[in-house]
Amino acid sequence: MDQYVTYHNDYHVLICRQHAFGLSPDYVERHFRESHKTIPIEIRKKIVHYSKTLDLWQSERVNNIAPTFVPIQGLHIISGLKCDYFDCKELRSTEISMEKHCRDNHGWKGKDGRQWSEQKMQVIFPSLKRKYFTYFEIINLDIFQ
Ligand SMILES: [Zn+2]
Ligand SMILES: [Zn+2]
Repeated sequence: MDQYVTYHNDYHVLICRQHAFGLSPDYVERHFRESHKTIPIEIRKKIVHYSKTLDLWQSERVNNIAPTFVPIQGLHIISGLKCDYFDCKELRSTEISMEKHCRDNHGWKGKDGRQWSEQKMQVIFPSLKRKYFTYFEIINLDIFQ
């Protein structure tokens, strides 16, 4: 089982080791059925059964857990940006997204220059496949502060 999934007690999340992202509790079965066809069905069933024995939380609830600042094993560490306005600490993955955040929340204008800094972070529920992974939401966790 450990070969395929890792359960993180702190975040109540099950991470697919191959894809390096979290799975919502009601998405585990479908994820392994659709994205892991090479895993024998008996093992897939075991993974689903195992997932039901865990206290998995919905992504919205996981999103609200305060970061522990300890890297989450099994997830990629990515270079992102942290907002430096006051103690906002909003995390974004791209400059464009951060500019929009600062414009909308802090009255930022282009002439103010960069009001954010580089930040290593992790994503439990990537939004890259948003169209497909409808349960998934982005969560950016500060890991080194
Ligand atoms: Zn997977
Ligand atoms: Zn901000």
